[in-house]
Amino acid sequence: MTSLLKTEASPYKEIDSEMDKSTDVVWHLASVSHQDRVVANGHQGAVLWFTGLSGSGKSTVANAVDKMLHDLGAKTYVLDGDNVRHGLNGDLGFSDSDRIENIRRIGEVAKLFVDAGLLVSTAFISPFAADRGLVRGLLGDKSFIEVFVDTPLEVCEQRDPKGLYKKARAGEIKHFTGIDSAYDVPVSPEIHVQTANQDVQQCAMQVIEYLKAKGLMN
Ligand code: ADP
Repeated sequence: MTSLLKTEASPYKEIDSEMDKSTDVVWHLASVSHQDRVVANGHQGAVLWFTGLSGSGKSTVANAVDKMLHDLGAKTYVLDGDNVRHGLNGDLGFSDSDRIENIRRIGEVAKLFVDAGLLVSTAFISPFAADRGLVRGLLGDKSFIEVFVDTPLEVCEQRDPKGLYKKARAGEIKHFTGIDSAYDVPVSPEIHVQTANQDVQQCAMQVIEYLKAKGLMN
């Protein structure tokens, strides 16, 4: 039997194969239904899935949207890439397979939040269309709103809010999206914001107006 203790190389991955899959687990029906929560909250749950290059403005616009929604009385939460990597996904790196697992776990967490009736904004580069498609599949078209934060690489690199592009150009960070790792441009996002032409408040308002137009917010 394999040990469940942490290993140096991979703190939590050393899991007994017999324990890998939970075949005897049955979904427990909740006493408070999703619909009860929707009624109590006064709106549907949904995920605003912000995707774009590092420095494109995902976190900034997601937080501005969250503040506007909160001020309108909505039940909200922001799942931010860097924050999640400190905890839930602290065992994952930036290889293609780890990026896929990163997004899969976020998708599952977002799904629980949507079941709780929240309007969840997520801010992850989520560079691969297939992974965004996987989360869309998990949540369904009605609950998954893709927000493409479209900012040219040159602008992101000039902003470089965390100094990451500088490090990537110097070869200190490998697999950096836009430099030596691909970003699949969303083909038909529900919302397309262009931060090089609009300020943060305008981008956030564009998202709020979409939600109002779709009847997801009053
Ligand atoms: P990301 O989450 O995509 O990595 P951040 O939101 O952390 O990006 O950083 C984006 C940077 O760009 C911030 O410093 C922000 O102030 C700046 N910025 C300038 N104009 C805009 C805009 N219109 N929308 C969003 N961010 C903007």
